[in-house]
Amino acid sequence: MEKNQLGDILNFYRDLGVEYLNIKLKKEKKSSKNTFFYLEKLKREVENCKACELYKTKKHYVFGDGNPNADLMFIGEAPGANEDEQGLPFVGRAGKLLDDLLKEIGVERKDIYIANCLKCRPPNNRDPQESELKACRSFLDNQINLIKPGVIVTLGRFALMQLLGNDKKITQSRGIVFEMGIYKVIPTYHPAYLLRNPKAIEIFVNDLNVAKKYLRI
Ligand code: SF4
Repeated sequence: MEKNQLGDILNFYRDLGVEYLNIKLKKEKKSSKNTFFYLEKLKREVENCKACELYKTKKHYVFGDGNPNADLMFIGEAPGANEDEQGLPFVGRAGKLLDDLLKEIGVERKDIYIANCLKCRPPNNRDPQESELKACRSFLDNQINLIKPGVIVTLGRFALMQLLGNDKKITQSRGIVFEMGIYKVIPTYHPAYLLRNPKAIEIFVNDLNVAKKYLRI
């Protein structure tokens, strides 16, 4: 709230004869202007990255996309063919399914931020290698620390392991709320898995509802 807005409100109540107000000022979570600026700076760093061999075979770096002020952040594995083509995350069939399932819990794509562990597509969608995940890790950590979401939902086993450790199994960890520093992390299935196993959609939506309970805004 601007200082002069607060002054106007206090004058309004004083004119009404009110002598005492118990006002709690809400602290701004962060400046979205600064977050946007630093995300753009980080994006330029990613676009010059040659820290692993994947930069040679990708078409586009896929940095991440969404609301820099989001309280809910999704982390996937790596760009697929559509993402590599367009330079944006989750724009293929799996992304469309994610959008539809988000709507079921009353959340829209514009409200969230989404990024992958790897910013370059592994050839033929092969699994990410440990050395690649390690090389790309600092970009993801910086994105998380700039966005400062209340809740992070990891999609699939690689995002789960990247954030919470290699010993974690998706079937045992999904839907559980883990604490990672100041962040709540809730693992669930990758939307690409849901395309192959539609029976798991209900579980996925339940996990999203768990995440929704912990949102601060
Ligand atoms: Fe760099 Fe990550 Fe791309 Fe590897 S995947 S080249 S670490 S941006």
